[in-house]
Amino acid sequence: MKEINIIFFGPPGAGKGTQAQKVSSEINLPHIDTGSLIRDAIKKESTLGKKAKEFVESGNLVPDELVIDLIGEKLSTIKNGSFKGFILDGFPRTIPQADALKNLMKTMKLHKPTVINVQAPDEILVTRLSARRLCSNKACGAIYNLISKKPIVEGKCDVCKSDLYQRKDDTKEACTQRLKEYYTKTAPLEEYYRKQELLINVDGTKGSAEVYKQIINELEI
Ligand code: AMP
Repeated sequence: MKEINIIFFGPPGAGKGTQAQKVSSEINLPHIDTGSLIRDAIKKESTLGKKAKEFVESGNLVPDELVIDLIGEKLSTIKNGSFKGFILDGFPRTIPQADALKNLMKTMKLHKPTVINVQAPDEILVTRLSARRLCSNKACGAIYNLISKKPIVEGKCDVCKSDLYQRKDDTKEACTQRLKEYYTKTAPLEEYYRKQELLINVDGTKGSAEVYKQIINELEI
């Protein structure tokens, strides 16, 4: 298989994470999800976690230099002899992050990425985020939605039976702030990647299976 590098791009709640997980297991590429990496760091109370906690919980973006360092470390650990590519989910989220990634990929001699742009209107995003529940078992990581993908037993994961939980930043207040951050700092990346002819648009209002089909067709994998 030739090297494939994919960036999942879009507002919170558009379904990037669900799709990135599916594509990652379908084509066996590492899924690098900065949101999860940062939440782990917060749980472990690492230096990054302590610096990031307040930003994350209030729905703000973590400062660029912290996330850029994190991605630099991650990419250098996965770039080995059997490297076949990566799936980035939630990075980059600002123009300086995108520039840093471009430089990093150039230095590491990696192929240009395909950027999958998953979009949906705000009403859908806020409704989806506030209904989202996650499996507390990190190795499982299943994602549920109390409206469109209810667990069979309330509060329990269908796959591994662990407890489900709601993210602190999936409350209405934090979601509103996350969307504000998205429109001011992240949305300009759409134009950034369109100009570089790297962008593929998919309709995030559709059901998860249909969105996945669109993505697989576009990627031709
Ligand atoms: P997510 O799980 O992708 O929704 O990310 C959750 C939170 O982690 C975001 O609201 C930010 O506070 C932080 N975060 C994740 N990725 C980034 C990034 N690339 N740049 C800045 N902050 C980030």
